[in-house]
Amino acid sequence: MTQTMNLDSKDFANVVHAGNSEHTPCRFCRSVGKRRFFTASERQFGMGDEFTYFECGDCGSLCINSIPTQLSKYYPSHYYSFARNDGQHPQDIGWIRRKLRAQRATFNMYGTGLLGALVQRLGTDYFRYPWRWFQVAGVTPTSAILDNGCGGGALLRALRDQGFTNLSGVDPFIAESISEPNLKITKGEIFDLKGTYDLIMFHHSLEHVAEPARYLAAAAEVCAPGGAVIVRIPVADGYGWREFGEYWFALDAPRHLAIPTKKSMADLGVHCGLVLESSICDSESVCFWGSELYKRGIPAVRPDGQDTITADQPFPESELEFFRQRAREINAVDDGDLAFFLFRKPGAKA
Ligand SMILES: [Zn+2]
Repeated sequence: MTQTMNLDSKDFANVVHAGNSEHTPCRFCRSVGKRRFFTASERQFGMGDEFTYFECGDCGSLCINSIPTQLSKYYPSHYYSFARNDGQHPQDIGWIRRKLRAQRATFNMYGTGLLGALVQRLGTDYFRYPWRWFQVAGVTPTSAILDNGCGGGALLRALRDQGFTNLSGVDPFIAESISEPNLKITKGEIFDLKGTYDLIMFHHSLEHVAEPARYLAAAAEVCAPGGAVIVRIPVADGYGWREFGEYWFALDAPRHLAIPTKKSMADLGVHCGLVLESSICDSESVCFWGSELYKRGIPAVRPDGQDTITADQPFPESELEFFRQRAREINAVDDGDLAFFLFRKPGAKA
């Protein structure tokens, strides 16, 4: 029998002893040793269902103890990542625009190219993701890029709109596979894919799988030599978990099945044959306002599918600005609740 303990207790002693056959191994470090159990509720949609998690006594990761049998119930159709695009990303921008925007993307990533600089100056740029992700990965607009857990493919479509031409995504929860110009999205898992990629991205998707090691190993497998694997994921050894506990927005029970510490994430990469090149914290203000909502018993998404933060405006702008400032502060001291990891596959680029 597992035992649910008081969250305020940091005591790891009163737990099932190591080696107990009922023990789920830590989903990151595989330890079956001491751990602290706690209960976490579904709060994003206000369903309230409760789940047993544990904090690994060896590596500090947070893991759901057993996988809910009806996990898809917790991914309703208005789950945020199913959005296909924001209406600004047509399927085909035409080859002239594509070439010009690819020049602009190269300028935005690497600061090179007069034509790209000119397009950047004269054109309107709707890209709302950090170019730094792609710059540190070392990709070009023709690189083969895979987004694992891409949802409806919003990021991939935004990249296509910037002149990228070799884009793939995979997600088990979407309604059907999608094939469009320069973009292919597969309903399924990374294990189903045959290709080789210069960059594989996990944007807040690796915490949604029961066995992150399998997925990261699969990414390492399909990554070209010298290619990159990006993992953006919540981390348990940051401000969010420490300050908000089970109200922490990014705990997101039961969708988040395993949340590593910075070290257990880095160790898993090494275990999968990857080299950790860099990592930084990239928390956003939602760490604060989302967790505050949960403390007040307010879901982040209303029954009508609208975000509480925009529909109900529960915080004055001055407080939101304070939350944005706090997010910058925790990032600056490497204490954020979210982190970005850049792994490299050993070998020379072809
Ligand atoms: Zn562990």
